[in-house]
Amino acid sequence: MAASETGTSLDFVRATIEEDIRAGKNDGKVHTRFPPEPNGYLHIGHAKAFNLNFSIAAEYGGLCNLRFDDTNPLAEETEYVDSIMEDIRWLGYDWGDRLYYASDYFEQLYEFALKLVRKGVAYVCDLTPDEIKDYRGTITEPGRDSPYRERTVEENLDLFERMRAGEFDNGQRTLRARIDMASPNMNLRDPVMYRILHATHHRTGSEWCLYPMYDWTHGQSDSIEGVTHSICSIEFEDHRPLYDWYLDELGIYHPQQIEFARLYLSRTVLSKRRLLELVQGGHVTGWDDPRMPTLSGLRRRGYTPASIREFLKRVGVAKTDSVIDVALLEHCLREDLNRTAPRVMGVLRPLRVVIDNYPDDLVEAFPAVNNPEDASAGSRDVPFSKVVYIERGDFMEDPPKKFFRLAPGREVRLKHAYLITCESVVRDEATGEVAELRCTYDPDSRGGEAPDGRKVRGTLHWVSAGHAVPAEVRLFDHLLLPDESEGGGKQDFKELLNPESLEVLAGCMVEPGLREALPGTTYQFLRQGYFCVDSVDSRQGALVFNRAVSLRDTWARISKAQAGK
Ligand code: ATP
Ligand code: MG
Repeated sequence: MAASETGTSLDFVRATIEEDIRAGKNDGKVHTRFPPEPNGYLHIGHAKAFNLNFSIAAEYGGLCNLRFDDTNPLAEETEYVDSIMEDIRWLGYDWGDRLYYASDYFEQLYEFALKLVRKGVAYVCDLTPDEIKDYRGTITEPGRDSPYRERTVEENLDLFERMRAGEFDNGQRTLRARIDMASPNMNLRDPVMYRILHATHHRTGSEWCLYPMYDWTHGQSDSIEGVTHSICSIEFEDHRPLYDWYLDELGIYHPQQIEFARLYLSRTVLSKRRLLELVQGGHVTGWDDPRMPTLSGLRRRGYTPASIREFLKRVGVAKTDSVIDVALLEHCLREDLNRTAPRVMGVLRPLRVVIDNYPDDLVEAFPAVNNPEDASAGSRDVPFSKVVYIERGDFMEDPPKKFFRLAPGREVRLKHAYLITCESVVRDEATGEVAELRCTYDPDSRGGEAPDGRKVRGTLHWVSAGHAVPAEVRLFDHLLLPDESEGGGKQDFKELLNPESLEVLAGCMVEPGLREALPGTTYQFLRQGYFCVDSVDSRQGALVFNRAVSLRDTWARISKAQAGK
């Protein structure tokens, strides 16, 4: 249903489309497309673009195509094509049978180019790439006409055909649109339409040595596919006059280009070039490293499609770029996982606790609620025994007054189980470090309630040592440090790389029910955050968890502070 019918406020893209529908433009039809270049994995910025294109098509009863913009044989690979399709589907969108490649249109584009040559509005130019740049002028100075601009139609046709036939070397000649070298819009200063590149293409092989430029390819591909609204990011605003010029000169069906602001996220980079640099430089383990803002990285980290769609909804669609705080993305994930993730106990930095007055061979099973937010999730039994692990950080030998966790002589609750009191500390003789705690339990506090109603403030998570499953846990911090210079001072974004973005904890202990945990499943470890079973490194007998997010909601704090201003 159209947004205006549901009473929600319209962003400017949807407003434009509704206006077109009302005016009966394109017979009221809406047809969009998402045109990724297969030269890298999709990141969350791309998700903003394809979420918008697919959602709009769905809202107005239209269609959305997937079109690979594969015009640069040097950077493109099938691996990227496959990952892009997987990521779009994962987020919940489907292009049906409308999967296209710009390379499928190479022949048609060539025919279109011949038409412009015959019309006298395109010419073969022999300037070198450097000379073309030099002739182009600057924003304040007009460019100069190429000495080849006045070639006859016959000469241009002959040379262009020979370009295609492979007679010339890379970069030796180009085909250019003959527009206006003095235009205040640099994109209209006789832009290059074709370059010569003897290279193998991932789909067309060595059929072509002539490759069309993005601007020349894009609008014509939109037109061929009957796209009504070509929604793209704001950097193409200055290209729109060229988009329109090509379509008008050809006199073919004319889609409308609409530009929206790009998504920028704090503490990370959203540019395929930079992400590739991180991968190739070994700064991350791959495109799907859980620290990456790629969809494959976010998925591996534990992000859900619903949380990303909610994030994009809250970000909205505007005309001006802005940097979104990554805390909002994390907040959306927390909200979603809070509803859906089963609660379990996992100890990240185990400290052994022996309960001296507990029978040696007794094992009790305590029922534990799987998700307090979801009664239908039921409960499970967690085994308890004489030796358990608690979190090292939950014990202090010499605690301050406000420390409500375990300390010598103090009593705490082991969640779902018993109240225990710390009686003494056993040290490692060599290092002097605390190696073990000796405790006693109150047999009358089954389930963790004091029989006499005495107040016990601290509640700790734990696992039974004899039943626990060892696991590796990976904790993440942001890829980049905060940029104090606001992007101004640093020459290279890699200077901002956070050296502490990854912490690996090898000796963690999790409750036995997790032994069979499936890769990609996310749990809430009580008091520790949300952890996703790593889909790459986890296998039978070697569990690896990625912490998706901690429980501390920094966004809630940020938005409260903003509201209070
Ligand atoms: P990058 O800057 O990461 O290399 P790109 O624009 O070169 O991205 P494309 O494959 O051409 O990559 O992008 C496909 C579509 O995604 C384009 O329409 C582009 O406008 C859009 N897009 C890319 N990055 C963002 C972003 N950060 N926010 C919104 N849309 C984006
Ligand atoms: Mg692009």
